[in-house]
Amino acid sequence: MTAEILNTEIKFLPGVGPKKAEILNSELGIYTFWDLLNYFPYKHIDRSKFYKISEITEGVASLQLKGTIKSLRIEGQKYKSRLVATFEDGSGSIELLWFQGVKWVKEHLKPGKEYIIFGKPAFFNGRINIAHPEVDEPETIEQKGIATLHAVYTVTEKMKKNFITSKSINKMQLVALQKCYPSIIESLPNYLLAELSLPFLNQALKDIHFPENLQQLQKAQFRIKFEELFYIQLQLLKLKYQNISKLNGFVFHKVGEYLNDFYKNKIPFELTNAQKRVIKEIRADLGSGRQMNRLLQGDVGSGKTLVALMVILIGLDNNYQTCIMAPTEILAKQHFTSISRFLEGMEVKIGLLTGSTKSKERKKLHTELQSGEIQILIGTHALIEDVVQFKNLGLVVIDEQHRFGVAQRAKLWKKNTSPPHVLVMTATPIPRTLAMTLYGDLDVSVIDELPPGRKPIKTSHLFDAKRLRLFGFLKKEIEAGRQIYIVYPLIQESEKMDYKDLEDGYESIVRAFPPPMYTVAVVHGRMKSEEKEKAMQLFIKGQAQIMVSTTVIEVGVDVPNASVMVIESAEKFGLSQLHQLRGRVGRGAEQSWCILMSSYKLSNEAKKRLAIMVETNNGFEIAEADLKLRGPGDLEGTQQSGVAFNLKLANLAKDGHILQLARNKATDILDKDHLLDNQSNSILKKQLKLRKLHNINWGVIS
Ligand code: ADP
Ligand code: MG
Repeated sequence: MTAEILNTEIKFLPGVGPKKAEILNSELGIYTFWDLLNYFPYKHIDRSKFYKISEITEGVASLQLKGTIKSLRIEGQKYKSRLVATFEDGSGSIELLWFQGVKWVKEHLKPGKEYIIFGKPAFFNGRINIAHPEVDEPETIEQKGIATLHAVYTVTEKMKKNFITSKSINKMQLVALQKCYPSIIESLPNYLLAELSLPFLNQALKDIHFPENLQQLQKAQFRIKFEELFYIQLQLLKLKYQNISKLNGFVFHKVGEYLNDFYKNKIPFELTNAQKRVIKEIRADLGSGRQMNRLLQGDVGSGKTLVALMVILIGLDNNYQTCIMAPTEILAKQHFTSISRFLEGMEVKIGLLTGSTKSKERKKLHTELQSGEIQILIGTHALIEDVVQFKNLGLVVIDEQHRFGVAQRAKLWKKNTSPPHVLVMTATPIPRTLAMTLYGDLDVSVIDELPPGRKPIKTSHLFDAKRLRLFGFLKKEIEAGRQIYIVYPLIQESEKMDYKDLEDGYESIVRAFPPPMYTVAVVHGRMKSEEKEKAMQLFIKGQAQIMVSTTVIEVGVDVPNASVMVIESAEKFGLSQLHQLRGRVGRGAEQSWCILMSSYKLSNEAKKRLAIMVETNNGFEIAEADLKLRGPGDLEGTQQSGVAFNLKLANLAKDGHILQLARNKATDILDKDHLLDNQSNSILKKQLKLRKLHNINWGVIS
């Protein structure tokens, strides 16, 4: 699609050459002129304003001055020498300093000449200096037409060492644009450009590297972000349309003995309306003759497992095998236990396959799966492996979807002649925009209601100094028959210190809650699994009133009698983790509490996180807030999503409105032209092909 010039190797760009080209290759992945043009500035500095030296005050940001270099001198010893220039603008004088490239800079600056300089002023002994300022001659700035907004590019240490600065990248962009401009081929159809008043691609590229004003820059950014997000949506939605039209699904037409028996005799409680609605939605999929690809979102404790189980039973009623895949061994075991318990007394064969399943046991499982004897297989991603073969797999349930990618899903599809139905469940609610991108090819069901009788958990934030008050409160709860979790953070970098905190904490708790009146159980990752199991059982059976642990319990136990979750050093946890932890309580009928302990020293962000936790119990609101606070790059489970989608400019946290627009447009277009066969959509088809090959790296989401 691109003309020759765009694919020219970067070393041939005037001013680059083989050595710099190698660095651009390895540091930024820039191989061609086109790659360079798509290396976008991360910010623009407003250089429309000139400051006077007399206006400079302590603490100001980078600023621009126009004046004359009066004198230049080298000071200091040979190896520690520095270049000092006295710079005046009529209102005062400052010093410009260079510690590196001293000789080169000295040769290139002429005393008495007028320069425009840019940099961050510092105060030293009552004098103002600017170290390593950017220096331009006024003519070049005017000539380039870049006197207003200056593009700033990320450069690495290695690049700096080799004299590739943000400024030199900008210079390269100028040369590349001059050479390529007429050859840049438009990548969006005309009708879309017109409808949305977007600039042409060549214009947008020129404007993002060399904007003449803010408005022009914003238009360019909008167009580039829109395009990025639009093609991802188009690809995902096209996939969805294809699945609908091409993939035959197994028809689960009947509801039989398994579901009926469970529903009539075994189910321990009335389904919530949300659970009923979601099951209906899923049943419609299963009966449609199409393969189901559905995302089930629901807050912690909303009862997703039960929904999954009922869907599984429909699968069994139709003589299919089913499986549940969980992200961790603990979670897989928990599903195994709770589903076995739900189905007690029913003739259903359930298997458990995880990384630690012994090879003899594993072989037996493999045989029983192939013969069809095992009806429900529960496991970790060990069950994706090719050696795991089913007789007739009809339904796959994936828990905590955000850790699995489309690639893994595709692997599961291959486990039968036609792909099995897929139900993915997320325990961590994710913001709408992220869901659209991560699961854009899925239909979505939401459980937006908690089982009845649950009182909303009350959350408060206490400083460490109030520990005595906390202990008093805990004693009262224990007297009332409740149980308590106390969780300590575990951060890999400071693991040793964290364990020390946990040990110290455990000791002080045992001192405050001494035996034989109280029993305190402790669980952490360094214990052997039998020890862990033993401690957990103490708590589950109600023999221990307090459970002290690291975050291992995050995805673990379900103890309805536990009514207090104390989170130590809560400022160290991310929002979604805090929310997950809090979800361990509030499962019974009693009022539950979450108490966030922290030191007085809190960053602004930590303060906001704790405030959000105190304010709301709603996982979706929390996820939105998290996304805003941290940006999608850091959201748990989505770290790689930005990489996977190769988003260069768009930001899933800030550009939700553009994403929505992109999705709407993609939907409109595909509604009218499923396969993009219309002449007017030929650009779209071509672009999708190109981008599929180069851009989306599904495997990265794991
Ligand atoms: P999650 O959606 O977080 O996976 P679970 O499936 O673990 O939630 O359910 C949380 C708890 O609520 C479990 O103890 C489960 O047995 C219980 N539960 C599920 N559905 C209902 C219901 N309709 N009424 C009462 N309790 C329910
Ligand atoms: Mg769950």
